Amino acid sequence: MSKILLLFEENSDIVELSERLYSMGHEVSELNIGSFGSRDYLKSLYKINYDLIILRVDADFEKVYEKLKSVTGLCVIPILLIISGSNKQQVIKLASLSLSGCLVWPVSDEQLMTSIQFSISKEEKQNDLCLKTEEDIRYAQRYRTIIEMSVDGFLYIDTEGRILDVNGKYCQMSGYSYNELLEMDLSDLEVCMNKKQIIYQIDKTIKTGKDLFETYHHTKDGKIINVEISAIYTSKESHGIFCFIRNISDRVKLENDLRESERSKSVLLSNLPGIAYRCDLNRDWTMRFISQGCFELTGYQSEDLLDNHKLSFNDLIEPEYRDYLWEKWQRILANGEVFRDEYRIRTASGEIKWVWEQGKGVADEQGNMIALEGFITDITQRKIMEQRVKESEELFRTTLYSIGDGVITTDTAGCLEKMNIIAEELTGWSETEAKGKSLEEVFPIINEDSRKEVEIPVRKVLREGQIVGLANHTLLISRNGNEIPIADSGSPIKNANGDISGVVLVFRDQTEEREAQKALMESEARFRLLVEHAPEAIFVQTDGTFAYLNPEALKLFGAESLDQLKGAPVVEHFHPDSRAQVKERITILNTKKQAVPMVEELCLRMDGNSFVAEVSAVPINYEGKDGALVFFRDITERKRAEEEILKAKMVSDNANRSKAEFLANTSHELKTPLSSIIGFSDMLLDGVSGDLNEQQVRHVKTIYQNGNLLLNLINNILDMSQIEFCEMELKFTKFDIIRTVHDVYSMMFILSERKGVSLELRSDMDYLDVIADRTKIKEILYNLIDNALKFTPKGGSVHINIGLRNENTLQISVVDSGIGILEEDIKRIFDPFYQVDGSSTRKYRGSGLGLAIIKKFVKIHGGSIWVKSIKEEGSEFFFTIPLNKS
Ligand code: ADP
Repeated sequence: MSKILLLFEENSDIVELSERLYSMGHEVSELNIGSFGSRDYLKSLYKINYDLIILRVDADFEKVYEKLKSVTGLCVIPILLIISGSNKQQVIKLASLSLSGCLVWPVSDEQLMTSIQFSISKEEKQNDLCLKTEEDIRYAQRYRTIIEMSVDGFLYIDTEGRILDVNGKYCQMSGYSYNELLEMDLSDLEVCMNKKQIIYQIDKTIKTGKDLFETYHHTKDGKIINVEISAIYTSKESHGIFCFIRNISDRVKLENDLRESERSKSVLLSNLPGIAYRCDLNRDWTMRFISQGCFELTGYQSEDLLDNHKLSFNDLIEPEYRDYLWEKWQRILANGEVFRDEYRIRTASGEIKWVWEQGKGVADEQGNMIALEGFITDITQRKIMEQRVKESEELFRTTLYSIGDGVITTDTAGCLEKMNIIAEELTGWSETEAKGKSLEEVFPIINEDSRKEVEIPVRKVLREGQIVGLANHTLLISRNGNEIPIADSGSPIKNANGDISGVVLVFRDQTEEREAQKALMESEARFRLLVEHAPEAIFVQTDGTFAYLNPEALKLFGAESLDQLKGAPVVEHFHPDSRAQVKERITILNTKKQAVPMVEELCLRMDGNSFVAEVSAVPINYEGKDGALVFFRDITERKRAEEEILKAKMVSDNANRSKAEFLANTSHELKTPLSSIIGFSDMLLDGVSGDLNEQQVRHVKTIYQNGNLLLNLINNILDMSQIEFCEMELKFTKFDIIRTVHDVYSMMFILSERKGVSLELRSDMDYLDVIADRTKIKEILYNLIDNALKFTPKGGSVHINIGLRNENTLQISVVDSGIGILEEDIKRIFDPFYQVDGSSTRKYRGSGLGLAIIKKFVKIHGGSIWVKSIKEEGSEFFFTIPLNKS
C-alpha cells in the first residue's frame, strides 16, 4: 500500500482512475491543479510524505511539472505522468523531464500497477545509488524516461547475463515485477539457450557491438513468447549490454498466417475449376496474370495468352459476344459495379465452352483504371444440365399441352402450377389467372346424382400418395357455371427421393362419351328387341359357351328357359361328327374375328335327338367379351324335300335312259327297212326294172329323197343317244386340219354353187397338225356350212375362217350373210330338236338335232362352240379345238 497524490486537470476522468487506485489498495489524495494555491499550501502537502505523485494532465504538463519541481525540489517524490495521447514533440519534451514513468490513457490495471510499483521501487534504488552529481542525476532521469517510453521491453544485463535493470514494458511482457526480475538471471527467462549458450551469445555481442536474433522467453504464467532481441554493447564503461526485446509472437503468427494464406491462395488458384486473371482494359483484354487453370479451361498455356504472346483472350471469345462484353464492361466500370456474366469461348481444340466471369476494375491512387481483375470458370456442364432441364421442361410442357385430355399440375399444397389448353377450356380459367390458386377454386366438382360437392382427387393423392383412379358421375362446374360431365384421375409427382412434389390431375369431358354410351344402350335395347322377336333362331356365343339364346333358338334346342342353356358349352349341342368343325369355327370367330361361311351341321336337342341346321355366324363383342352372333335354321324338312327331288331325278334319268335306249333300238330297227326303201327306189330311178314314165320318176324320186331324210334323222337320233350315255367312242388321230377343212370346203362348194351362194375359205396357215377325231371334226364343219348355206338366200355369201385363237387353241368360224337369229333364240339353238321356226309349214328342212350333236362333239374334244348373230344380217358360228390334246 502506498500513499499517492493524484493531481489532475479540470474535466479529466479522474473518478475512474482514483477508484482503480483505491481498489489496488493505495491511499489516494486528489487535488485539482486549478486549485493550486500558494507555494506554502503545496509545501504543506509535501510534508505528508507521499510515496508517489500521479499527474493526470494533457495540456501544459511541462508547466505543471516545473511548478511541482520548484516546490518540491529534486529527488523527493517520484512523479508518474498519465497523458491522453502522445506525439513526437511530446515524446521529445518528455525525455527532457525527470519523470519516473509515463503512461498513455486509457491504461490497463496491469500497466498501472507495474508502473506504480516500478516508480516507487526505482526511487528507492536511486536513493541507494547515491548519485554523485546533479549531472549524473539528470542523466539517470533521462535514461529512465527513454527506456520507459520505449515501445519495446528493455533489459540491461551484465556480461554474465544477470539482470541489472528492466523497464515497465518488459515487466508487462514477462508478467514478473521489477524487483522479481532484478533477482533473476537471463537463463531463467530464456527457453532455447542454456547459461553457456547465453554467455557465448553475450561474448559475440561484445565482439561485434550489436546483435539481432529471435528467441523464446518464459513468462511468469507459464507461457512462451517469441521475442526479437536487439542487443547493443557500447563501451567497457557501461559494464553491461542493452537489450531491446520485442514480442514478435503476434508478428510471427501473422507471418505464419500470411504464409499459410499465400499457400492456400496458390493451392486454391491451382485447384480452381477456372482461372484468376489480371488484364488490361483494352479490346484484346491483354492478360498480365493468368492462373494455372488456363490450360484446362482454354487448351492454351498461360504463356500463350500472357501479353497476347500467341493470341489474345478476345480471340477466344465467340465473335457474337465480343462487342457485347466490351460495352458491358464500360458500363460496369463507369458505375463502379462488379461485372458478372456468362458467355462462350472457343478452346484450342475448337470445342465451345460456356464460361462465367466475375471481375472488377482496379484503380490507382488517383482513381485511374489500371487493370481488370477477376475470375473465369467453366460452366459448360451446368449449361448442359440447364439445357437438359429446359428441354425436359419443354418436353413436359409440350406433352402436357398436346395431351387431348385436360391436365393440371399442382404443388404439394394443392395449388395450381400448370394447366393445358383443354383444362383451360373446360374450367374456364386461363393458366395465368389460375396459377397459385387452390384447386378447389379452379376445379370445383359435384356428384352428378346427389349434386353434393366432391373432394377433388388431388387431396386424396396428397393424403395417400397413390394414384387415384377415374371417378364416375362427376360434374365439373366451370367458371361460367357450365356443368360438364367428366372422368378424372390423379397421380402423385415424385422427386428423385420418392417424395411427393406435386400432383398431376387428368380429366376428360365425357359429354360425347355419355351420349355415345346412351346411344349404345339404346341400340343394344333395339338389338335385343330385334333378336328376341326374330323368326330366325339366334344365339350368342362367348368363350365357346351360350351367352344368350332367343326364344326361337331355345325352341329349336328344345329348352324351356334361357337358364337351361346359358353358360353351357356350345359344342355339346352339336353332333360329335360336327364338333371338330364347330370348334374350328369358334376359334376363327373369337380370335381372328372373322365371319364364317354358312354350313350345314348336325345339332342336338336337349332330348338327344338331332336335326340338320344351316348355321352362319359373325363375330361380335358381347358384354365386353369376344364372341359370335350365330344364326341357324332347322333344314331337316328341306333336306328331305331335296332328297326326294334327287330321287325323282334319278327315276327320271333312268326313264330317259330307257327312252334313249328305246330310241336307239327303234332307230336300228327302222334303218333296216329304210335301207330297202332307199336302195330299191334308187334302183328304180336307175332304170334297172325298166324305164319309168315321167310321173313315176317324180314319185320314186320323192320316195328316195324322203327315205334319205328319214335315214339322216335316224342317224342323228342314234348319235344323240350314244352321246347321252357316253357310248360314243372317238378315234383320235393326228392329221392336218387345214387339209381336212379344204376337203369339206371342196365338197360343199358344189352345193353352194347350186344354191347360188358364194363360199370362200380363208386361212393364214398352210399346215397345222391336230390330234382329234377327224370324222367328227368333218361332221361339225359339214353341219355348220350346211346350216349357213341353208339359211342364206341366193346371192349371199359364206366364209370359212381358220386361225389360232391363242397358241394352244385352234378356232374355226363359219360366217354367213343369211337370215340371222334373234337374241332370245340364240340361247336355245344348241338344245336338241330346237328350231327357230318350229312350225309344220316351215320353210327350211332339218331336225333341230344338228347343233345339239356338234356341240357335244366339240365338248368331247375339250373345245367350245358359240354364235354371234344379228337378225336379217347374218350369223357367225365359232368353235375351238385345243391343240395339245393328246
Ligand atoms: P336343223 O336341222 O333344223 O338345221 P340345227 O340344230 O342344225 O337343226 O339348227 C337348229 C336351228 O338353228 C335351225 O332350225 C335354225 O332355226 C337355226 N339355225 C342354225 N344355223 C343357222 C344359220 N346359219 N342361220 C340362221 N339360223 C340358223
